[in-house]
Amino acid sequence: MFPIQQIWLHMVDWVSAHAVMPVLDALHLEGLSGDPHDIAAALLIAAAQIAIIGFLFRPLETFWPAEKWTDRKLTLPDRNYTLMMLLGIFPLFTYLVLTPFSHLFGGADPAVSSTGSPIALTAWVPWFNDHPYLLFGVYYLVYDFVYYWMHRTQHWLPWWWALHSYHHSTRQMSCWTNDRGTLVDGFIQSMILAVVGLVMGVDPDEFAWLMLIGELVQNLSHTNTRLGFGRIFNHLVVDPKFHRLHHMLVDPDRPKLHNCNFGQALSIWDVVFGTALYGEPPRPTGVGDPVIDADNSFGLVGQHLNALKRFWATVRRPEGWWPGEVAFDPVTLRPIRVADVDLHHLVRHVQDPAPPVSGAADAGHAPRLPEPLAVGQPSAGAG
Ligand SMILES: [Zn+2]
Repeated sequence: MFPIQQIWLHMVDWVSAHAVMPVLDALHLEGLSGDPHDIAAALLIAAAQIAIIGFLFRPLETFWPAEKWTDRKLTLPDRNYTLMMLLGIFPLFTYLVLTPFSHLFGGADPAVSSTGSPIALTAWVPWFNDHPYLLFGVYYLVYDFVYYWMHRTQHWLPWWWALHSYHHSTRQMSCWTNDRGTLVDGFIQSMILAVVGLVMGVDPDEFAWLMLIGELVQNLSHTNTRLGFGRIFNHLVVDPKFHRLHHMLVDPDRPKLHNCNFGQALSIWDVVFGTALYGEPPRPTGVGDPVIDADNSFGLVGQHLNALKRFWATVRRPEGWWPGEVAFDPVTLRPIRVADVDLHHLVRHVQDPAPPVSGAADAGHAPRLPEPLAVGQPSAGAG
């Protein structure tokens, strides 16, 4: 165990005894199979994460922005949702679902693996037991690799894009955008990553650290700042410039350009698999599809309902399972292959791609009117 983990466990004990147990008692939830320490750990992690976002990343948006905004109206639902997720939903989800789930693997020889997985990394290479930091690094590599391919699938499987597109629909991508997403999408992602962690044999305490590192890098990479890590380091780790290009609005004249930069914390996977894009100036963020862009005209609840509506319309149709990039029919919400759509027509309602930030200080706030070309009018080529 890392020395820092001992301090950590004391803090978790304290919060569990003085804050979590009394609340669980009052709600009569104390007898469930989860461990109250998990709620305490999730709350402490959340508090640290919110402090880092608020005191480090948020000032970057004020003093060194990639896009200048005259107001931050569109970031508010994301901020509120992040607070709700980190301080409420995620700790409860850990307690009620993730921990009981991890117990399914329990009961095996802890000398082989702390999760009991017969194919744990330490079962293959016991040498790793004496090199915990190296082991943690290898865990992280595998975790991040799985995340990269999961993220590519989120873009290529139409029903998953129906959900993930909600994460992309914001026209003001900020330090609060990382958690923007539906609970359905969050659940699927957590389960996939948790299974990977359990199979590798990651101790649940260490898994929390894996997640925290991934989350913090993502909070920074969504931050509206010009910060970059330099030409060498940005080929290893995702920086805000790199991830901003992943969120770019489709360019009708270069329609493949936005299929780039899928990495979570490490950019090496994009370099290795040919999806890395460097050297482009920052571009406006958002999605050209009017059905998806309409998320911006709703509050928190409306945004979720909008995303879930297109998910439901897609997941029950066979074409919702055929891989490929899609837009959604404004009337039926049926997925339509982007190859069959006139992209110039599609993005006109959002904005013509703005010039680079240096030339267009107001890029993030330019008049991207939520005027749907959409509703009631089939998009070009919808056939
Ligand atoms: Zn994405």
